[in-house]
Amino acid sequence: MKYYSTNKQAPLATLEEAVVKGLAGDKGLYMPERIVRLDEGTINNMKNQSFHEIACTVAQAFFGEDIETETLNEIVKDTLSFDTPVVNVSENIYSLELFHGPTLAFKDVGGRFMARLLGYFIQKEGLKQVNVLVATSGDTGSAVANGFLGVPGIHVYVLYPKGKVSPIQECQFTTLGQNITALEIDGTFDDCQALVKSAFMDDELNRHMKLTSANSINVARFLPQSFYYFNAYAQLDKLGKADNLVISVPSGNFGNITAGLFAKWMGLPVKRFIAANNRNDVFLEYLRTGIYSPRPSVATIANAMDVGDPSNFARIMDLFDIYGDKHHEICQHITGYRFTDEEIEYTIRYVYENDGYLLDPHGACGYQALIQYALESDETGLFLETAHPAKFKGTVDRILNADIEIPAKLQAFMKGTKQSVELCKDFDAFKSYLMEQ
Ligand SMILES: *Cc1c(COP(=O)(O)O)cnc(C)c1O
Repeated sequence: MKYYSTNKQAPLATLEEAVVKGLAGDKGLYMPERIVRLDEGTINNMKNQSFHEIACTVAQAFFGEDIETETLNEIVKDTLSFDTPVVNVSENIYSLELFHGPTLAFKDVGGRFMARLLGYFIQKEGLKQVNVLVATSGDTGSAVANGFLGVPGIHVYVLYPKGKVSPIQECQFTTLGQNITALEIDGTFDDCQALVKSAFMDDELNRHMKLTSANSINVARFLPQSFYYFNAYAQLDKLGKADNLVISVPSGNFGNITAGLFAKWMGLPVKRFIAANNRNDVFLEYLRTGIYSPRPSVATIANAMDVGDPSNFARIMDLFDIYGDKHHEICQHITGYRFTDEEIEYTIRYVYENDGYLLDPHGACGYQALIQYALESDETGLFLETAHPAKFKGTVDRILNADIEIPAKLQAFMKGTKQSVELCKDFDAFKSYLMEQ
């Protein structure tokens, strides 16, 4: 399968090139040339399969032409060492719990898959060291760093906004050592993302070292996220609850919801997607007005969604390229809502007290969006619970006036010693740091 750039000014790339480069030469995002449609029988049969089997079928559709089945299945197996269960929260609302992986957030799926795929290409081609640059607003850094920890031939630089990620998030990528370096940037997440993008465009830097990205712009990170949409459907199907499915996705860079759209394009019967945002609502504004105007992000308590210029917007545009009136068609598939910090807090408190379910601030946006959408009685609402609430313990404890339990996996990170390199947000400082490595 070949990959083209959303800007359509770069040559087609192989899977390996797309994964190793991350971003196309014309600054566009890579997209697979074709989206293989699974037949209805295959999807209906998923309710009788394990998550591993389901994911292998989906992975085969994307990567089967480029990687031998046995190797691919092995990569899928190593990626999914945990489950993504669907849990009933209230009436016809279900939570897809994506936080049972090593860093307790959904990004573990993409982070682990990409690390293994890149590791495989490096080994196969005998490539010299590849350097992964990843900007994080909190959860990406930990998932990518932990996914890549100890993978030979790869060094990871995690760029994060100083003082803007929770202490628990921070320790998940600053305490690892080995092939992981944390860069603490005096700026916002958007500044971190801009530094990464500039680095890829800098010829001198790219001659000095081989760079790639592990943000959801990388196809190896975002495509595997479609695995759990199929798995969720299969679980609901088993319960007889898969008809008229409305899926609500707490969104920041829009990689997760784009993977959901890919699943739908592959044939997964999803009636509608909901993009749930915090106050960073440029996508909602696009749905309402047809105009996309990126702006600087604002800080919220759902900080992994503090994104003012979602990078996967270009992919969503591209998925709808075949339609004359793209905006109209997008509105047929996606509804948007946005929530203030106060509304998020209210939701966490309400759901905890009424349903006994503990939401994190991101999942709370997903849940509340289903409430606002007002499901019909024949619809099932599924929201993606993207992180374990304990990752945001300070916030959740304050809201509930409680002391929520920290899973052992998280406690282990908190025992480590923080190591980071502090840098200002200008590109020259970042570049000279990298040139010395
Ligand atoms: C990254 C993240 C999101 C947003 O996902 P995107 O793919 O960037 O839209 C939502 N919730 C949590 C907990 C995250 O870590």
